[in-house]
Amino acid sequence: MKQKPVISVKNLDVTYFPGKENEIKALRNINLEINHGEFIIFFGPSGCGKSTLLYAIAGLERNVTGNLKVDDKPIESMKEKEIERHYQKTIGMIFQAFYLIPSISVFDNIMLPQVALKVPLRKRKKTAKDLMKYFGVYEQAKKLPTELSGGQQQRVAISRALINDPNIILADEPVGNLDSKSARDVLGLIRDLNIKKKKTVILVTHDPSHLSIADRVFNMKDGELVDIKVNENPRFLDEKKDLNEKSGKSSDAKQTIYKDAEKYNASGLLQQYQARQIVWEVLSGFSAEEAEHIEDYVSQSIIGKEDKKQMLKDYLDQDEKKGGVGLDKRSATKITRQVMSLTDNIKEFRGTYEKYGNSKKTTMFLRKKLSSITGVIFKTAALKVVDEIIADRIYGNTDQIGVYERLDMSIKKGGAGLDRRDARRVSRLFELFLLSVYGGQNKDTIKPKKNI
Ligand code: ADP
Ligand code: MG
Repeated sequence: MKQKPVISVKNLDVTYFPGKENEIKALRNINLEINHGEFIIFFGPSGCGKSTLLYAIAGLERNVTGNLKVDDKPIESMKEKEIERHYQKTIGMIFQAFYLIPSISVFDNIMLPQVALKVPLRKRKKTAKDLMKYFGVYEQAKKLPTELSGGQQQRVAISRALINDPNIILADEPVGNLDSKSARDVLGLIRDLNIKKKKTVILVTHDPSHLSIADRVFNMKDGELVDIKVNENPRFLDEKKDLNEKSGKSSDAKQTIYKDAEKYNASGLLQQYQARQIVWEVLSGFSAEEAEHIEDYVSQSIIGKEDKKQMLKDYLDQDEKKGGVGLDKRSATKITRQVMSLTDNIKEFRGTYEKYGNSKKTTMFLRKKLSSITGVIFKTAALKVVDEIIADRIYGNTDQIGVYERLDMSIKKGGAGLDRRDARRVSRLFELFLLSVYGGQNKDTIKPKKNI
């Protein structure tokens, strides 16, 4: 019985600058099928289109014509958001340049893709811990990525790629930056994932010494798939056969589709998550599509200098038939004011944090903001405790749940004496503020948690 392919590509072309003088046909008439559990290599010289094909399969390439099915879902008929979700759940990507966020811990880097999917913190931690143990980087959990060797960093990046338990692993020259021993180790780990965890793997490489690892090698040249070679006896790479140490130095190291990849990297997800939090913090009762639109405005306001206030207001009060939400003017104004005021406060916090770092000034700023935005008034007797709780979180000695629990605890027992609802609101808002500096805007980072 023939199984359904997990990836199927029909008559796929990728053309950059179509119809222009500088038109580039990066891929021409690609046809292929990949079965569940296969280990595939895309092989060929630099510039032949390997990465482009990989990104197309990932749903990250826009200049595509033809048919592309991944996990039985036709990518070409999906909306951008659907592709994004599909990508998050189905595909784990590994890059030559790792793309770890330098200012947050290994542990937080690995958990990041789950933040956007709203996986509860406890569950995230558990999955991340298991992965770190599996990949031998558990000891490094609290360190920053730059404190790790290249091989370790790639293990962290692989853990991140696996956190949502995707079926498919796409790896673009994942060992191009590594010395030969680390390269062999990392390739061995990827092969292991394929064999033991039944992940379908596509590995892009231009290094012929890697080929023996694959079940099938797809040879590419000048944007075309020229032939497919089946390895009857695929095997792990042995020590004697040395890998090409200098592979990372070749011109292939340059990532031409960097821009698209960046859009999906972890910090992009983070900003998107933050926007979503802001929206849900102040709004409810919108359709998913409307919320997504509003998120976009917020998201652009968080990163950019542009003021999206007017655009958001217009969108909210414009007639539904004209593509708006159709709210009355007053509601539109009120909601815009609330959303934008929270956005402004977050920007202001970021400024304060950049200026004063982990200091008393920052702590006090936060206490005042948390109080004024939520309307929760801290009792005078609790002010010192609140500052302590805030500082503890900033210094990474506790997590969101710890903050919530202490805010909720009675003053007698050393807490801030808030009721549950207020404690929840304050701790959530606090976390939202912290996200804006977790996001890698400055190097002077909030320290990773002690108690992981
Ligand atoms: P490989 O990964 O095999 O080295 P790529 O897939 O990166 O090759 O590139 C294939 C061709 O497409 C090259 O000629 C490259 O310059 C071109 N190309 C890739 N991405 C872009 C892009 N975003 N814009 C324009 N040309 C691109
Ligand atoms: Mg490439």
